[in-house]
Amino acid sequence: MYESERDKLIDELTSQGITDVFVIKAIHDIPREKFVPEALQHQAYKNIALPIGKGQTISQPYTVAIMTQALKLEKGLKVLEVGTGSGYQAAILLNMGAQVFTIERDFDLYQEAKKKFDKMEMNIACMCGDGTVGWNEFAPYDRIIVTAAAPDVPKSLLKQLKIGGIIVVPVGSRTTQIMHVVVREDEEKYSTTKIPAFQFVPLIGMNGWKDD
Ligand code: SAM
Repeated sequence: MYESERDKLIDELTSQGITDVFVIKAIHDIPREKFVPEALQHQAYKNIALPIGKGQTISQPYTVAIMTQALKLEKGLKVLEVGTGSGYQAAILLNMGAQVFTIERDFDLYQEAKKKFDKMEMNIACMCGDGTVGWNEFAPYDRIIVTAAAPDVPKSLLKQLKIGGIIVVPVGSRTTQIMHVVVREDEEKYSTTKIPAFQFVPLIGMNGWKDD
């Protein structure tokens, strides 16, 4: 099911500059339709964000692909995701061989994602809480991915990144952001490259935007 739509999406992602074959494979393998509401399943392979309830979205496949590619994953790396949402991005990371930890602040979305992971036998550690402060218990991480818009790269997350690790975060206003890809070169030294331009829902929390 959805085979031709999925192939078309993969062609589109390739033409948009997604070259990492493992990212392409993961997008091919993970059934996005299982991570969107039933009524929207027919749109699962469109290259668009879709609503998942509670005012939140599953990110556009291009966004998932470019962020995942920027992480430069290798099998066995420990990855923290902030913003579980539907659970799709976490499933992509798991498919690529990462050890995945994910945090969601909304209890209903957290519960739904956890149920999905259990049903699909995906070994993903998830918790409900404010991801702007990270998940200290399992730190440090090789990679961190933040899937909501932050006013700045949260300092507490930088501290939970291993030396040589990479964090990918959309940074900007509540409405448009630039993707920051930050490498922790040393204890206090970071280098940043940037990819324009994205539109995420806001990261709400102690080191994010205030709830209103
Ligand atoms: N990665 C998700 C997926 O694959 O479906 C998409 C994430 S959605 C664009 C952003 C998510 O971040 C929302 O579910 C939102 O509730 C969550 N969020 C916002 N602020 C957060 C915070 N401080 N900690 C954890 N999750 C947060």
